[in-house]
Formats: sequence, C-alpha cells, structure tokens
Amino acid sequence: MARYSDSVVETIKQRLRLSEVIGSYVRLTKQGNTDDYKACCPFHSEKTPSFLVHDREGFYKCFGCGKSGNMFSFIMEMEHVSFPEAIKFLAEKASVPLKEENEYEKKESDKTKVIQDIYNRILKSFNTYLLTRSDAEHARTYLASRKVTKTTVENFMLGYAPSDSTWLYDFLKKNNYSDEILKETGLFSRNYDNLPLFRDRILFPIRNWRGNCVAFGGRDLTGESKAKYINTPETAIYSKRNNLFGLYESLDELKKREEIILCEGNFDVVSLHQAGLRYAAAPLGTAFTDEQARLIKRYCKRVNLLFDSDGAGRNATVKALIICQTNGLETRVIKPFPDDIKDASQMLEEKGAEELLKSCSSTEGGFSYLVHSALKMYDIRQPKGKSSVFKEVKPFLDATESSIERQDYFKYLSDILRVPQEQIIREYEDSTGSTQTWSDSKTEPVIVKNEIKPGPELNSMLLLLNNPECFDRFKTEIKFNFLADVNARALYTILEDAQREEIKTKETLLQMISDENLRNFAYGSMTDVAYRPANLSQAVTDVINNLKLKRLEDKRANVQLLIESAQMEGAPDYDFISLLETVNELDREIMNLKAQNAEGSNN
Ligand code: ATP
Ligand code: MN
Repeated sequence: MARYSDSVVETIKQRLRLSEVIGSYVRLTKQGNTDDYKACCPFHSEKTPSFLVHDREGFYKCFGCGKSGNMFSFIMEMEHVSFPEAIKFLAEKASVPLKEENEYEKKESDKTKVIQDIYNRILKSFNTYLLTRSDAEHARTYLASRKVTKTTVENFMLGYAPSDSTWLYDFLKKNNYSDEILKETGLFSRNYDNLPLFRDRILFPIRNWRGNCVAFGGRDLTGESKAKYINTPETAIYSKRNNLFGLYESLDELKKREEIILCEGNFDVVSLHQAGLRYAAAPLGTAFTDEQARLIKRYCKRVNLLFDSDGAGRNATVKALIICQTNGLETRVIKPFPDDIKDASQMLEEKGAEELLKSCSSTEGGFSYLVHSALKMYDIRQPKGKSSVFKEVKPFLDATESSIERQDYFKYLSDILRVPQEQIIREYEDSTGSTQTWSDSKTEPVIVKNEIKPGPELNSMLLLLNNPECFDRFKTEIKFNFLADVNARALYTILEDAQREEIKTKETLLQMISDENLRNFAYGSMTDVAYRPANLSQAVTDVINNLKLKRLEDKRANVQLLIESAQMEGAPDYDFISLLETVNELDREIMNLKAQNAEGSNN
C-alpha cells in the first residue's frame, strides 16, 4: 500500500467538509442550529433518515445499520475503492497534490484515467462522424425516420460508428494510445485486437453521474444483424449494474422534480426527453438493479415506471416496483398507451411529442397497479382468488418499511377484496411467520439478492450455454425481448457476445457471467446430463416451441382480459368481435404448435 504522508490526509480534511463529501451522494438535511445533518443512509435501505453526519467532528454514524466512519471510509464504501484510492479521489476534489504512490497503483490509476480519456475523446469523434460524414447519411436518415431531431442528437451526443473496420484503430493509434490500453477499453473484439466492436451502428453514449462517457450502446442500422444492440462489456470504468442510460442528461430536471421516468429502451429515453420530459432514463439491457435504485435515490423520491405493455414489460414492472419499494422510493406506473402503441418511441413516431407528453401524465400508484394486475389474473368471487391476490402483492408489503404506510395498503386491500382489515393483517402476520406486532417497526434492511428461480426460460438458456453451437438457430426464433426472466436474459446476452467474438470454450463463456450467483448456478449445469441430451437438435426444437407456446398463451391471456374488461365496460360490438377474432387466431396458432410438439416427442 502506498503510504501517503499524514500531511496529505490532514490537508484534505482541512479543505473539505464531511457534509460536502457526503452531500454529493445523499440529500442532507441540516439539524437546527447544530453542525449536524441527517439523511437516509446510503448503505442500507430505509425511508426514515437515521444517518447522522457530525460535520465539525468529521464523522458519520447510521443508527439503522451501524456503519460509521470519516470521509475516507465513506468514499471507500461508496466508490468501492481502497484507502489510497479514496485519498486520491478526495485529494483531487480538494486539489491537494499527491506525491507518493507505488508503482502498481500508479499504473492502475493511470490506466483508468487513459481509458476514461479515450471514451471522452471518441464520444466527440463518433458524434462528429454522425453529424458530418457522407457515409453516415443513412444513419441520419434512420434517426430522422424515428423522429429524433438534431438537437436531441447533440444533447445526448449520439454517434455513428462507421462500417470501415480500420477507422477507430487508426484514429486511436494516431493519438498515441498503446495496444495494451486499447485491449482494455472494450471497444475492440476480444479475438481480433484492432477490429472494432461497433461497426455501422448508431451509438448511444452512456455517461456516469459525473458526465463522463463510460460505455456505448450500439443500435444496428441494417435490421439484419443478429444483435439489435451491442453494448460495451464491463471495463475498469464501466459496470452496467451501476449505470443508467440518460441519468446524467436527466440530472438537472431530476433534482428539481425529485422524480424520474424509468423506461425500457434507449430510443424511449431520447423520445421522452424530446417531448420535454427531461427526466427519463433506462437500465442497460438488464433488469433494473438494486444499485441503480440507490443511484436514483441520491437525487429523487419517486420513480414513474414506463415499461413496454407486453408480458415481459409487465414482469419487469412488478420486479422494479419491489426494488423501488425496498429502497424507499415512491412508485407510480404510467398507464399503457392507447391504440396498441407499445412504447414511448413509437408514440413519438406515430403521434408526435405532444401526445407522448400527454399520455405520460396518466399514472397509477405502484401498489394499486400491483393489486389491479393481480385482480386481472384471479377471480376474487372465490375465496382462493382472494388469497391468490394477496400472495401476489405480499412481496411489496414485505418491502414496505413503514408500518403506517403498510396500514394504508391493508385498508386498500380490505376495500377491494371485501375482507375485514383485521383478517388481512392476520393473514399477513401468519404468512411472514413473525411474532412482531405492527408497532414494532424496526425491521432488518431487506437486501435484494439475485435469486435464481429455475424455470422454462432459464433451463432453455442453460441448454444453449452447454451447447452454444445451437444458439444461432435458437436466436432466429426467440428474440431477447421474448424472455422475461432476468437471468435468462443475462445468459442470452452472453451467448450473443460470445457468438460475435467467436468464443467457443465453455469455461470462457462461464467467466463472462458477471453475477456470481448465476455463474455458480451455470457451473452446476455443466455436470448435469439433462443438458447433454441424446438428440440435441430435437431438444433445441422443443425448447424453442415451448417458449413460443408460452408467449402465445401469455398473449391469449392478455386478450382474454381485454375481452372481460370490454364486457364490463360495455365496449362497442366491433371491438368485441375483433378481440374474439384475435383469440381464435391465437388458439389456432397454439393448437398448431402443440401438434408440432406432440409430433416432435413421438420421433
Ligand atoms: P428500438 O426502439 O429500435 O426497438 P429500443 O432501444 O427501444 O430499440 P428494445 O428492443 O426496447 O430497444 O430493448 C430495450 C433495451 O434493451 C435496449 O435499449 C438495449 O439497451 C437492450 N437490448 C435490446 N436488445 C439487446 C440485445 N440483443 N443485447 C443486449 N441488450 C439489448
Ligand atoms: Mn423500442
């Protein structure tokens, strides 16, 4: 470890106040006339502030989780860095010059700086390329066809990566970057050092909360690529769990409004900003994470969810609601758009900015959304139906820290299910198996771990992980968006990456799984004979057909719901007829698929 002279540490402490350091992570509230501040603890999930900052003494303490320390330990925890790195970080902030640093640390931090440098530089080059070069004409036309304006391109610094596969390498070499560094930028193929990852793609720069570009999402332009999106892999400066596309561009508005719109795709983010809703961001091709919720929590109180109105979107909404609730973020869900419009970008394309703006103002509370989507699944005229609805919404109740807030939800449920409130409370207490009473609100912080739930989607992806040569065929039939399970989605992305980079060994594939739980789970599958079927080709066909079947059945269930609500609301006849026709159509497709499946299993 590098030894910094005590004087460096002392100088930093003199120049920076603890509240200044902590204040850029959490909202601090001054405590009367004292030098103390209060905040919601950034280290665990809570709604009522129990994190105390003693500014004059220079230490903090959380009465919820017990964490305490000074500004250096705070940065170590927050930024996941070592003590010397925390000193460097704060020295930079306080403009204190550093002299001592050992060889290794110096090399590492220089490397990070250089990679960051490269990203900020090429961000501009890709953007200029998009705006000026003649071989980017089709990219400009494409953006125009999706109603993305030049101002938006400039605000987000959207870019274009040319199809010319020597351009990027030559450009960076001209600027004297070493091959060793280029390898670690994630901008080039793993196997061919100077082949760029992004070719003939529109680039969405992903910036961290400080405004530095740390990665790109690259959207295919041809409509023919096997991967609609290619994203930068994890690097020294980028991890997808900790970033959101559009967050930085939203910061001003976010802080003012103390709320955010969380949507699914990059195009949705830019569309919303263009419509004047400049507080929209999206996770990066994975499900919304706990880390992202905490990042948001630094700036705002409320999350408005706007995921696609399909099955996968609804699933993602439910999961995101619980993550938000766990982290003490208030939730609202934006109502589905009319006329079969599935997302914000389609709304902008087909109806314009004004309509998009208007549609986003129609929202429903997170809990009410959960209850109502459960009501669509079960018949609450039956006692079983009532308890099923209760089970569906229970995770949200579990994630609610405040017992007062929970009482409100009990009341709401009691009204809707027509069950006395006391009975609901009893059911809740029985199901949590706890002897705590509601006044006893001191609950453990809930930590959302990646829980692996084996199911048809995950099993399918494990089969492919064990037999990656079959992924190509699978992919032509099952798209990324068909999958609802987070872990299945993660494996899908890895298989796509592997294919692109021509990685064939299973060990390397496994190493590409960043989530530890999932990686261990996948390791387990390597010795499971179930994933080495005698008739592999048939097994893959079965998996494809089953997923297709599930998708059709989901669709059918949705249409069925529409029919029921049309019946209740007395919709005009033609609505009804077209819905019934759709159901018939789906039934035919389902029957065909089932027949095919039966045939397959007879062979
Ligand atoms: P478009 O409107 O052109 O279809 P989109 O940005 O709305 O594009 P979606 O298909 O809705 O994209 O997907 C949502 C997000 O998921 C994308 O913005 C991207 O970050 C991620 N994503 C989509 N497909 C992939 C993929 N094949 N690999 C990795 N990430 C993906
Ligand atoms: Mn889209």
